[in-house]
Amino acid sequence: MTGDQHDQLAVAGPDELPILHVDMDAFYVEVERKRDPALVGRPVIVGGSGRRGVVASASYEARAAGVHAAMPTARARRLCPAAVVVTSDFSGYAEASEAIAEVFESVTPIVEPIALDEAFLDVSGAHRLFGPSPEIAWHLRSAVRQATDLDCSVGVASNKTLAKLASVAAKPTVQSSGPEPGLGVRVVERAEQIAFLWAHRVEALWGVGPVTLRRLNDIDVVSVGDLAAVPIERLVAAVGTAHGTQLAALARGIDDRPVHRGGIPRSVSHEETFDTDVRDPDRLRGEIVRLADAVASRLRANGLVARTVAVKVKYPDFSLRTRAQTLAEPIQTPRLLASVAHELIARLDLSTGIRLLGIAVSNIAEASAPPVRSSAGVGVEALTAPETQLQLELGVGRHFSGESVSSRDTESGPTGDAELDRRLADALDAIRGRFGGAVISHGAAGLRDGAPGERRWGR
Ligand SMILES: [Mg+2]
Repeated sequence: MTGDQHDQLAVAGPDELPILHVDMDAFYVEVERKRDPALVGRPVIVGGSGRRGVVASASYEARAAGVHAAMPTARARRLCPAAVVVTSDFSGYAEASEAIAEVFESVTPIVEPIALDEAFLDVSGAHRLFGPSPEIAWHLRSAVRQATDLDCSVGVASNKTLAKLASVAAKPTVQSSGPEPGLGVRVVERAEQIAFLWAHRVEALWGVGPVTLRRLNDIDVVSVGDLAAVPIERLVAAVGTAHGTQLAALARGIDDRPVHRGGIPRSVSHEETFDTDVRDPDRLRGEIVRLADAVASRLRANGLVARTVAVKVKYPDFSLRTRAQTLAEPIQTPRLLASVAHELIARLDLSTGIRLLGIAVSNIAEASAPPVRSSAGVGVEALTAPETQLQLELGVGRHFSGESVSSRDTESGPTGDAELDRRLADALDAIRGRFGGAVISHGAAGLRDGAPGERRWGR
């Protein structure tokens, strides 16, 4: 399950720094050194040792010679002939990773693992037991060392973007003379966060890969400060509306992505078993819209987007059929989701009626910055406007690329939803937040108060 309830309880006071990013230092290398102390102090490369091997991780000594992850091992050996190349089984890493996770969970249940050696923590509920966030960070560092004999770096800040940059700033550094110890903990106070953020190169930001970086450099954006200063029209022309808007927000230190307890779910789904087999196309449309709304609402509540949509039907003879499609752009709004689901279901034989309908999304990622919530007042206006009903009609899926995963630049345009759809969904979310999930529903689904599955659907 997702951490919905925890996400809602996790709202911190304005002066708190609720987010920690903890990242182990040279994790794989240090685990190997524990296994074989002869490696201590020597340059170490963990990775494939064969002719086609690739570096998975390098010790700070090897990094000083220019070795980095993903480099062919053969090249790494030439750069650093003294390096010991270690190819190991996975068990030591998994064991250390579990020990670290236990330490994190002793402080807060809201832990989002990012990798074996890295996690975000929301500590807004932990102050009574463990003190202010910086104290929690130092506590974690010593508790991790005690549990694993390994070091980590901790970033403390008001949001995920800043906490991640802060943990990097806390890391040991590589000088030509060799590794230098880092701060261990870096706290970014609110008063300094803009200066801290703007001093970074723009590729340090979440979602800026090589393609986006080139487009930003083309408009003379090199630092995050440049990014904050560039007019939004110019930014949008360079990287697209959705991505441009999100980058502009990140550059201002705005990032309200929650810490997802347990990590990002692999899939989100809702299904409904009907009292009597459903054959009527209008009824089916209503059910599709309702289930799509339930799934999209879960995604949106957690700041997530999805690229793969699947439908499932069960026939009166209990046989199952599924159909799935992966989209070129991730989505999170009910209208697009319902549209894709409707197309998928239309490919199935519905003449005998169906006893169960399900909609699932997978290929889930974080929206790089969730859309700013509209106020409930705006939401009420949007819902009472006559054109709202039109927006809720099922669209035609002309946005979609077909069965296969598109290989084009997936780092641009983090969402395929139209601006209007997102605002409408925001409005729905705002009203649900105020009145509870069962109040607002789309079109025909609203006529079915108290139907089986209604409570689940409410989110
Ligand atoms: Mg690490």
